[in-house]
Amino acid sequence: MIRVAVAGAAGKMGREVVKAVVRAPDLTLVAAVGRHHGVGEDAGLLAGIGPIGVKVGSDLRQALSESQAQVCVDFTLPEAGAENGRTVLDAGVCLVMGTTGLSAAELAALDRLARERRVGGVVAPNFALGAILMMHFAAQAARVFPEVEIIEAHNPQKRDAPSGTARRTAELIARSRAESSRWAAAASGVNTSEPAPAGNSPARGLLVEGVPVHSLRLPGVVAHQEVVFGMEGQTLRLIHDSTDRSSFMPGVLLAIRRAPELKGLVTMEELLADVLRSPAAE
Ligand code: NAP
Repeated sequence: MIRVAVAGAAGKMGREVVKAVVRAPDLTLVAAVGRHHGVGEDAGLLAGIGPIGVKVGSDLRQALSESQAQVCVDFTLPEAGAENGRTVLDAGVCLVMGTTGLSAAELAALDRLARERRVGGVVAPNFALGAILMMHFAAQAARVFPEVEIIEAHNPQKRDAPSGTARRTAELIARSRAESSRWAAAASGVNTSEPAPAGNSPARGLLVEGVPVHSLRLPGVVAHQEVVFGMEGQTLRLIHDSTDRSSFMPGVLLAIRRAPELKGLVTMEELLADVLRSPAAE
């Protein structure tokens, strides 16, 4: 049994994680932590699965040491994620970081701390397996299609924009472009460090790693992303929709199960590298 703590346990994602961990036969929920909402209440009642005897605390460090958690899952807020991550790794506990909006410098510092403390973890802006495939396919398509834009939609409560998934997709596309001589040849004359074409109007989206990203915030949406590639005479669209937060749970549970064997922080793409390797490349 892996002993799991959840930070942000009273939030939308945290409640879903509590439910998934309690239902998993090989995991046990030993601690739940919040900020204001839900503190002092039973985490199972908040998650809608009845009482489980784990009350939501407000002190992460104390909760980790008292519960002897082995893995802590964080779904909090951009301003809380980095500090929580430090607290978790400092305590020698593995980290599964789902909170988005952390800067590259904050993530790199967490990775260094994990290596110093000799613990591991997984960081992903999107744990939905379909979204990880979409990002992977986008990186592949970017080797062939020089022009691409991203449209993402989330609920209006989401604090960060563009989404972590869109940023990560743009990073993977940029890396793919840099590695691909075919793209460089096809795109000769296109300077991706320049502002978006069409007059650099805000309506043309925010440039992330040279990729224009358009962010929608609408009630009723959980998570949507469309990566649209264009080339003379053709369009290629990769679309992923999370219609329910349960979509993130298979990835979160996989990360919890694999975290204890890792050293340092890895991405979901790295965790799934064997599955994602193209048979055609072998
Ligand atoms: P949410 O409903 O607002 O929940 C966030 C929760 O975190 C709230 O209950 C909040 O408590 C709590 N919190 C804030 N600071 C805290 C701290 N220092 N320690 C412990 N708890 C704290 O948001 P959500 O929709 O669940 O999303 C949470 C995060 O996950 C966001 O960054 C979102 O972008 C991200 N997300 C990631 C994925 C993925 O697959 N990686 C998927 C969906 C969402 P109070 O309400 O009392 O302030």
